[in-house]
Amino acid sequence: MKILIAEDDKTSFFMLESLLEKWGYTVLAVSDGDEALQLLNGDDPPLLAILDWMLPGISGPEICSSLREGREGNGKPYQYIIILTVKEEKEYVVEGLKAGADDYLTKPFDSQELQMRLRVGERILHLQEQLRTAALYDDLTGLLNRGAVIERFENELSRSWRTGVPLSIALLDIDHFKEVNDTYGHVTGDRVLREIGQRIKAVIRSYDSLGRYGGEEFLLVFPGLSGSVADGICERVRSAIMEKPFLPSETKEDQSPFFISASLGLFEVPAVCETVDTVLTKADDALYRAKGSGRNRVSR
Ligand code: GH3
Ligand code: MG
Ligand code: MG
Ligand code: MG
Repeated sequence: MKILIAEDDKTSFFMLESLLEKWGYTVLAVSDGDEALQLLNGDDPPLLAILDWMLPGISGPEICSSLREGREGNGKPYQYIIILTVKEEKEYVVEGLKAGADDYLTKPFDSQELQMRLRVGERILHLQEQLRTAALYDDLTGLLNRGAVIERFENELSRSWRTGVPLSIALLDIDHFKEVNDTYGHVTGDRVLREIGQRIKAVIRSYDSLGRYGGEEFLLVFPGLSGSVADGICERVRSAIMEKPFLPSETKEDQSPFFISASLGLFEVPAVCETVDTVLTKADDALYRAKGSGRNRVSR
């Protein structure tokens, strides 16, 4: 596991670094507060950090406040921060924790105690990760859930307005899915939903977003794509679902496979500001046209 040390005192610095490496951590070490904050805010940031109080640039507690600001619900993983300082008076402890530190230790520290406190941190991070997963992903399909995929869409929408880069979205609805349940039962229906999610995922780009929008409906977000380019991907999605048969049961042999199709409503977001709701309604209108004109197609 990656851990950041921000410490400007050379002796403490080397002692910490060698201990952490001995305990199996991958250590990122800086002696400057601004640099520490940059790393913590960067791509693939360390989730554990030990910060000194006084540092060149911004201080440990200032790093904490800055990290905690606006972090709620931004989808980023939680970062566990320990302040390690010579400041041992109660008011400093209170100030550090108030600034957003998770734990506070004073120097000189006991190495066993530090090791155990890091374990506590890892335990909290593990729980946070479980909560994050539960809050973002759909239980049945493992795809983003409705709230999470709409949030991705919101972010892409504001990015598209800022940068002028095109953005398209598609709503996909499985055709006659009720018949699958009625004919083969809900267990098979559930498995088919999962399989369809996987088939869609396999043919979209890694930076497209896919989520379960409702029962047998999926929302696809295509950043950077105009409607005509996204149309090609939607066709690929449509083919991926319908070209391979599904089996009524995973275990029974001797069963007739069946085919399923899906309809897609595609909408390219125009340059003028529209709300998430109006854009979704436009995609839904397009989906309605796809259903109305015979299903198993992409409509715009
Ligand atoms: P259409 O082509 O018009 O979309 O027909 P349809 O049968 O797909 O549409 P309808 O909205 O009538 O039915 C959707 C069905 O999807 C009904 C519902 O039982 C089923 N469904 C929704 N969520 C789930 C789920 O989580 N598991 C299973 N097995 N079925 C689901
Ligand atoms: Mg210092
Ligand atoms: Mg439906
Ligand atoms: Mg349907």
